[in-house]
Amino acid sequence: MAVPLIDLGRQYEPIREDINRAVNRVLDHCGFILGPEVKALEADVAEFCDVKHAIGVASGTDALLLALHACGVGPGAEVITSDFSFFASAGVIDRLGAKPVLIDIDPETYNIDPAEIIKAITPQTRAIIPVHLFGQCADMDPIIEIAKTHGLKVIEDAAQAIGAQYKSRKAGTLGDAGCFSFFPTKNLGCAGDGGMIVTNEDGIADMARKLRVHGGLSDYNHEVVGYNSRLDTLQAALLRVKLPYLPRWTKARRAHAARYDRELAGLPLITPKVNDGAYHIYNQYTIACDRRDELAAHLKENQIGHKVYYPVPFHLLECFADLGHNSGAFPISEQAAGSVLSLPIFGEMTETEQTEVIEVVKRFFAG
Ligand SMILES: *Cc1c(COP(=O)(O)O)cnc(C)c1O
Repeated sequence: MAVPLIDLGRQYEPIREDINRAVNRVLDHCGFILGPEVKALEADVAEFCDVKHAIGVASGTDALLLALHACGVGPGAEVITSDFSFFASAGVIDRLGAKPVLIDIDPETYNIDPAEIIKAITPQTRAIIPVHLFGQCADMDPIIEIAKTHGLKVIEDAAQAIGAQYKSRKAGTLGDAGCFSFFPTKNLGCAGDGGMIVTNEDGIADMARKLRVHGGLSDYNHEVVGYNSRLDTLQAALLRVKLPYLPRWTKARRAHAARYDRELAGLPLITPKVNDGAYHIYNQYTIACDRRDELAAHLKENQIGHKVYYPVPFHLLECFADLGHNSGAFPISEQAAGSVLSLPIFGEMTETEQTEVIEVVKRFFAG
């Protein structure tokens, strides 16, 4: 039996009519740019996260870019982030003319290691971007403490972590600003690109709202040079239908994760480590194993969806060669890139399908 890594159609099917109705309403009222559904979704997400402001933007990448910009990051600044994440976490820093300062990760959670942050701070450091990788929050208390001591901004890359919690506080609301992605494969995905910034700080919210419309809130009065980065009304309308289902979908992912944890225990692989006080939302269920590439080939042969997130740590990317890091610079991140593998975890995966994934993995190690 083939098992896909994700199946978006199965999520759409039971809510098809509600989504089609919501999208058709937008096509009827034609308020395509910053229409009423965008404002309504911003209010919904603000309530969901228990945060003062939510600002819809064109993608998760732009959420990071605009949040950093709104926090005053620009040429000459240094921003500390994880060496092991999706490209955007570091790419946005470079795009603002600032320098990405990459640091190694915690070997168990693959999240940024607070002890490494302290070592990387210089007089030019302006901000830290912790990534809540795979759906589990980075260890935020020490990160916020360090930021306070050194006067740094904290922008959470919560692209994979909407609904995750850290000690009962919602991902995205722990630092100065939080950034979500509505890329289709995220836990709350739209039908294209979309993203959102959340913050409790009025100044960051005001600036982000300006930046997304070319830097001015009234026509042709450009206070700063901004971007064209709005969340489409069509996407907002669809996301408003989906958001109420998110807690249910998250519970399904967590139940699948718990079953993997139980049934893969004892095999020569590492299942995800969940910190005390963490509510992991499993955007990915990521295992690690020494024979990763062989296991991946075995899964492929047996038609089990899987993917390596992420095969190349940032410091070894061609575009960051000028940062001057060699192979071996961040050993834990390199080790992760060489050993991680994500298995199917989408909420609609059936029990039979998961049994198949588990059996195929077990067969690999038995053979
Ligand atoms: C998906 C993702 C992003 C970027 O989001 P887009 O909506 O695709 O631009 C940023 N950071 C991380 C960790 C992500 O997983």
